[in-house]
Amino acid sequence: MTDDRARVVIVGGGVAGASIAYHLTKMGWGDVLLVDRSDLTSGSTFHSAGLVGQLRSSVTLTRMMMYGVELYRRLAEETGIDPSWHEVGSLRLASSKERIEELQRLAGWGQTFGLPLRIVSTDDAHDLWPLFDPAGIEGAAYLPTDGYLDPTNLTMALVEGAKRGGARVWTSARVTGVDVERGRVTAVRFADRGPVQAETVVNAAGMYANQVGSLAGVEVPVVPFAHQYLLTKPIAGVRADMPTIRDPDRLVYFRPEAGGGLVAGGYEREPAPWSWREGPPADFNHELLEPDWDRFEPLGEGAFSLVPAMESAEVVRMINGPEAFTPDGEFILGESDIRGFFVAAGFCAHGIAGAGGVGKVIAEWIVHGEPELDVWKMDIRRFGTHYRSRRYALARSVEIYATYYDIHYPNEERSAGRPLKTAPTYERLRRLEAEFGEKAGWERPNWFRTNEDDRLEHLRPRGWAGAHWSTAIPAEHQATRERAGLFDESSFAKIEVEGDDACAFLERICANRIDRPIGRIVYTQMLNRRGGIECDLTVTRLADDRFRLISGTAFGTHDLAWIRKQLGEHEAVRVHDVTGALACFGLWGPGAREVLQPLTTTDLSNEAFPYMSAQDILAADTPCLAARVTYVGELGWELYPSVEFARSLWDALIEAGRDRGLAPAGYRAIDSLRLEKGYRAWGSDITPEDTPLEAGLEFAVDLEKDFIGRDALEVQRQTGVARHLTCLALADERAMSLGNEPVFANDAVVSRVTSGGIGYTLGRSLALAYLPSGLGRDSALSVEVFGERVDAVVADDDLYDRSGKRIRT
Ligand SMILES: Cc1cc2nc3c(=O)[nH]c(=O)nc-3n(C[C@H](O)[C@H](O)[C@H](O)COP(=O)(O)OP(=O)(O)OC[C@H]3O[C@@H](n4cnc5c(N)ncnc54)[C@H](O)[C@@H]3O)c2cc1C
Repeated sequence: MTDDRARVVIVGGGVAGASIAYHLTKMGWGDVLLVDRSDLTSGSTFHSAGLVGQLRSSVTLTRMMMYGVELYRRLAEETGIDPSWHEVGSLRLASSKERIEELQRLAGWGQTFGLPLRIVSTDDAHDLWPLFDPAGIEGAAYLPTDGYLDPTNLTMALVEGAKRGGARVWTSARVTGVDVERGRVTAVRFADRGPVQAETVVNAAGMYANQVGSLAGVEVPVVPFAHQYLLTKPIAGVRADMPTIRDPDRLVYFRPEAGGGLVAGGYEREPAPWSWREGPPADFNHELLEPDWDRFEPLGEGAFSLVPAMESAEVVRMINGPEAFTPDGEFILGESDIRGFFVAAGFCAHGIAGAGGVGKVIAEWIVHGEPELDVWKMDIRRFGTHYRSRRYALARSVEIYATYYDIHYPNEERSAGRPLKTAPTYERLRRLEAEFGEKAGWERPNWFRTNEDDRLEHLRPRGWAGAHWSTAIPAEHQATRERAGLFDESSFAKIEVEGDDACAFLERICANRIDRPIGRIVYTQMLNRRGGIECDLTVTRLADDRFRLISGTAFGTHDLAWIRKQLGEHEAVRVHDVTGALACFGLWGPGAREVLQPLTTTDLSNEAFPYMSAQDILAADTPCLAARVTYVGELGWELYPSVEFARSLWDALIEAGRDRGLAPAGYRAIDSLRLEKGYRAWGSDITPEDTPLEAGLEFAVDLEKDFIGRDALEVQRQTGVARHLTCLALADERAMSLGNEPVFANDAVVSRVTSGGIGYTLGRSLALAYLPSGLGRDSALSVEVFGERVDAVVADDDLYDRSGKRIRT
């Protein structure tokens, strides 16, 4: 080991950097250098309140938090430094019926991966935490394995563990430059010492992560916010072993202090971004902001009304410290577009709870090239280029912070920073009274209010699922099944891969065979080395050396990054994102041919234009690629005109469909249509943790050829898969599962719903879930929807148009 070289340099000696160093050394990578511009823990870590709550918005993140607890339990013994882990449990109070429903939903979800979360009565909660006023409290969720600790000691324990594994630590070592050569990181430069060559650099610089990222040309859209809590002198009745407690309706949280006082903090409705445009000042080390009592006032009121003893308690001090938040409230992790340059930042006031899991995930990612868990929701690649706008990142982050404790209903839409990206037809869609949703910055019609039909009101799902719903959804569904639907899908991610080696390259990264005649469309997945599904898309061969890849709106940046990462240095391949250059209209339904044929001289008959083929056509004077594919299970085409033609083609299609019952239709109808056809959705039904064999996608895999992930699939094929993605039909067609509900077989939890919804043609409530392969056919299945068990049966054989006749004729 020399001072001018390290295998990995970690920038930032807060809890995240320390944990990454710890986990790398545990995995046998001792040549690690952890650097901080000041002392260890001089960023957000030293002023953290130290609460460790495990329940979070996604399965992966919750599993990461659960791992953290396991780690914090054993660190004192392992390293000799005690992080003062207090496993006191946590209470989350409910002051309304909706909040209890939310907790029930979370408790059901928690069961699916062994989180011991349970709903307790107000009395039981009060026994555990006698200082709160039980008036108006409807119950609580209790998680006995949550707790709190000392963040500085936690960091020091992790650093000690890392040092024992060979890591070096430099303090007062400010990073001022990151060298990048041919898209790959090569070295780190310092203010006061010589450069250090490194093949991997991790930006764990907390609220300074955007500044450190910019040294490598990487945008990290963290936004610092001032976050406050106060500490009181001892209050009678407070014990150090009392659970931590949150009352989301009053926006506050508490934890006991070792000396008998309370820590009380929360999330204000009027958040205070700080240094958001330019980043924190260079000399802001080990510092706090001035207490902002006015801003704390609403939290104080909430705290006093819940815990009356607080009112007379003496405040020792108010801590006002900045912390990095993100535009969607999720962490920012992973390898950036610059190879070898990783980011681990933006912990949204959960960095202490998250540190264990973050360290493990990032270390695995560095050592194995991919993370083992599905971390897409936290992946830095989820942000499109529009997040380079600090103003946009700010607007989105403010909304997230201000609504942190709100109940977030499924299918709820956010409003900050909209509209941003719009399809060429946007004004036309507005005139049709589109109810827009937003994905990856795009405005997309969820449904059209002009299609609403009161006669379909009886189909409204019960409970929460009926909140963001409209009768237009089943109306558009029916129109597509019976006549024709026209969908503006211009936001679909469109990637072109071209060059002499394009075909061979795609063969190597796609599980299906790509080398097919020009005009053929191939449905395929791209897999990681474990056989997990990284991308799910169609590939259309446009020329010998040119292919167009289509995937979901939200996955473009991810898929592009994945594809580019697989590209060898000497491969003659160019990869372009053409999303914005092309519109896309999905025209589907039994009447699709009759709508389109009069607009074109191309023969659209099944013989001349078969399923899974594409042709350049002229439709209503508009040149476009017509691709005969479907995600809704009906005959039809996706039409890709370049944007300047989009409006006239849209108008012509609407006009041509006028007498044929064509309806403009939105994404919520697509979701119902695809579900009853059994089509999978990436990110929920299929993820990097699931293989095509488990997901029932073996028809899209060609094991005869070589491709990334093939060896893992071959092993799986020989040994057999342990679980299968299965479609369940619920006995109650208005009980709609929204995803993550537990699935029971004979009263034991065996799985969780990956996605669910109502198939309006089948007249059934459907849910996809991975069921264990050995499950007996006679097992009594049920799905817990909002605390209520609903019987279910396997419905794979009863899905819509099993033979595929409707899409192939
Ligand atoms: C008031 C408050 C209460 C909180 N309460 C909780 C809680 O109860 N539970 C919880 O889980 N989380 C809580 N948090 C959040 C938690 O403290 C943070 O998420 C966590 O500490 C972030 O750790 P980090 O390592 O990412 O960043 P930091 O601790 O900020 O570390 C980043 C480090 O990078 C260094 N650095 C920056 N630029 C450079 C450079 N150019 N060269 C070298 N080094 C550099 C800095 O000096 C700094 O030490 C709270 C935060 C605040 C503000």
